[in-house]
Amino acid sequence: MQILRTVAELRQWSREGRRGGKTIGLVPTMGALHAGHASLIRAAKASCGLVAVSVFVNPTQFGPNEDYAVYPRTLDADCALAEAHGANVVFAPAVEELYPTGAATFVEVEGLSNRMDGASRPGHFRGVATVVAKLLIAAEPDRAFFGQKDAAQVAVLRRMVADLRLAAEIVVCPIVREGDGLALSSRNVYLSAEERMQALTLCRVILATETRVAGGERRAGTLIAAVIETFATEPEICVDYVELVNWATLEPVETAIPGSLFAVAAWVGATRLIDNTIIG
Ligand code: AMP
Repeated sequence: MQILRTVAELRQWSREGRRGGKTIGLVPTMGALHAGHASLIRAAKASCGLVAVSVFVNPTQFGPNEDYAVYPRTLDADCALAEAHGANVVFAPAVEELYPTGAATFVEVEGLSNRMDGASRPGHFRGVATVVAKLLIAAEPDRAFFGQKDAAQVAVLRRMVADLRLAAEIVVCPIVREGDGLALSSRNVYLSAEERMQALTLCRVILATETRVAGGERRAGTLIAAVIETFATEPEICVDYVELVNWATLEPVETAIPGSLFAVAAWVGATRLIDNTIIG
């Protein structure tokens, strides 16, 4: 498996593949790959002739007091995992390759970018949209694969792809969880053993919400209040948001209908975690 470092190399690889009759799949990641990323790579492999995995810790999506400097960087292991799950190339550019000196162009998806995670992480979705636009323009994939884990990100990127008339189809893959339910995240390595236990509250409230909805409860206020009540019994957890929204617009809705997004974000110690469910 090849490691590509420049946009020119990635574009050439993609164009050669397409000339050879292959469809191109792209899996954008920040590395520290785990089984959640692996599921995206396998999904890409199952529907595309050639798969590129990008590994890039994108500085513009981190706030000034966030974990950019300490975010886990494990390129050798990432390449091994990517190859084992069928990737043909890993694209691992230097920061200057995607942000040349003087870079002044950003992609802002207005409105959506200020909701949910965007509300507590100003500039986060601007950074995400910008880097994913750069990756889509560089790789020219037929399909790009993202996790439902970052459901608000999916909404922002769908809007961006539609607005910019980018050719790539956005494919969303289910959340991969540990055996005890915790959603896999590269940030789980930050959790102490005690915090790891506390973090389970996120998946528990998601599961409880699914059960309430299955039992017929559809009122946003009731579903949200029940989750906030559970979080209140865990003083070590600091809730960022509990929301029921329209998945396309990220605007709050009063009633859960099929396709609505119920999502939570909370700090467990210094680590911010997210989880969600799409109402069935
Ligand atoms: P990241 O490296 O955290 O930027 O994530 C790269 C991609 O992997 C994003 O599309 C995430 O939504 C996806 N992803 C992260 N964790 C999971 C998970 N537990 N299950 C499924 N997809 C995930």
